[in-house]
Amino acid sequence: MTIPTITLNDGKNIPQLGFGVFLVDPPETERIVTDALEAGYRHIDTAAIYGNEEGVGRAIAKSGIPRDELFITTKLWNSEQASEKAANAIDESLSKLGLDHVDLYLIHWPVPKQDRYVEAWTALEQIRASGKATSIGVSNFLVPHLERVLKETGVVPAVNQIELHPYHQQPEVTAFGRQNGIATEAWGPLGQGKYPLLELPEVTAAAEAHGKSPAQVVLRWHIQQQHIVFPKSNSKNRIAENFDIFDFELTPAEEAAITGLERGGRVGGHPMEVG
Ligand code: NAD
Repeated sequence: MTIPTITLNDGKNIPQLGFGVFLVDPPETERIVTDALEAGYRHIDTAAIYGNEEGVGRAIAKSGIPRDELFITTKLWNSEQASEKAANAIDESLSKLGLDHVDLYLIHWPVPKQDRYVEAWTALEQIRASGKATSIGVSNFLVPHLERVLKETGVVPAVNQIELHPYHQQPEVTAFGRQNGIATEAWGPLGQGKYPLLELPEVTAAAEAHGKSPAQVVLRWHIQQQHIVFPKSNSKNRIAENFDIFDFELTPAEEAAITGLERGGRVGGHPMEVG
């Protein structure tokens, strides 16, 4: 199966569907990422704070998949935003992953209280220049954080990875991204299973109409909205199910009904407060 790609503002392509490993237990990570690679995923989203980069790295090494067929993202943790710390943090992540570069390196949260995200962004530019990250971006940035980075550095992040699911669509942030060429990555695409998203009639009716599961319908909605997604699951069946979303298309009415589910309800922390 060919996974569609999105071309980033630096000309690199990212597979629109990947596999996320937030809360995947470190001892189980190698097995679970192996299941994902066997199911066909080639894009893995991890982070230093997840504590499982080593397991991701072991699964990659064991897979024998050529490096240029993989797209690996990791993230700079909040305590490491000072430039000298960021320089060490990428080396540590690469060493744990067993790689000489990642495809995408992100500032995990802005942490405005700490006021170091512009410094961290400059550090990421240097990391990209060194070849240790092919593309660089941010995560959990709101419009004022993006505006400041653009104004003070002139370097536009390739992506902004934000909490985004039908209950919480962040229209201001995604509109700013569209206007400025910043691709949107949707974390928690299934609402982390914390909302009854998969039981809502707008979702179950489309699932029935297409002979797909509710989770497949929500992931397909993300794909049609041009989001980049990397749902997480520990279950081999669900890992395969979440990958199988390219043989149907939601009608404009089905897509609009799901877009209409916006409730402003976050499952994660607020970007002004985390950190
Ligand atoms: P998610 O929305 O992918 O939800 C995962 C949960 O949904 C699973 O634990 C399971 O309970 C359920 N689920 C998965 N597949 C299912 C299926 N087919 N049917 C029914 N239920 C299913 O949430 P997530 O893991 O938080 O988000 C995805 C990825 O985003 C993470 O793994 C991580 O890589 C990234 N992320 C980033 C940030 C950030 O701050 N940048 C924060 C959270 C997550």
